[in-house]
Amino acid sequence: MKKKVGKVISGLREHYPVVKTGLDFNTKLQLLISTVLSAQSTDKSVNKVTESLYKKYPDLESLLKLTRKEIEDNIREIGIYKNKSKNIYKLLRIIDDEYNGEVPDKMKDLMKLPGVGRKTASVVLAVGFGEPTFPVDTHVYRICRRIGFTKSSTADKVSDDMMKIIPKENWIEMHHLLISHGRNICKARNPECSNCNIEKYCDKVGV
Ligand code: SF4
Repeated sequence: MKKKVGKVISGLREHYPVVKTGLDFNTKLQLLISTVLSAQSTDKSVNKVTESLYKKYPDLESLLKLTRKEIEDNIREIGIYKNKSKNIYKLLRIIDDEYNGEVPDKMKDLMKLPGVGRKTASVVLAVGFGEPTFPVDTHVYRICRRIGFTKSSTADKVSDDMMKIIPKENWIEMHHLLISHGRNICKARNPECSNCNIEKYCDKVGV
């Protein structure tokens, strides 16, 4: 398995020499908000609404002045915006009241925030704080199972399985590589296996 992991990482690096999050942000708070907004929405649609949101309300102080309805009005172009507005409205106040205005840097604290599950917390820790974590979104989940890295059927278990077989220093990079692969080649429908660098290391489970 170790050899297979190494080959997959090398193959994916050839496809995607530069990887980073697709979300646009300037601060950890913006990263947190964008990640909450990205649930069931594409990074592109999130960036579209946050571009003007962060321009008008760049920090906690300015965001706290928004009513829930005003947050809704600013993000209504993305999916489940009412629920997301409610969560953002509440989490801004929790960060202000309980964390001195700073985004918490512990998984357990992040996961107490409304709208923040393990995946969102992992992304914030990995991208915002450089903490080694292995966030599992829909692309990562699908590809890890297709390749044959795991048979687990929940995102949390897939994350646990992957952290056991991938060297810690590669967790964040691998997360980004798999997302890029899911968007470009190993798509949910009709994966382009003949264009895939890692085809010979892939079990193609369910493909
Ligand atoms: S060979 Fe096919 S199923 Fe396997 S990772 Fe590549 S595109 Fe996905």
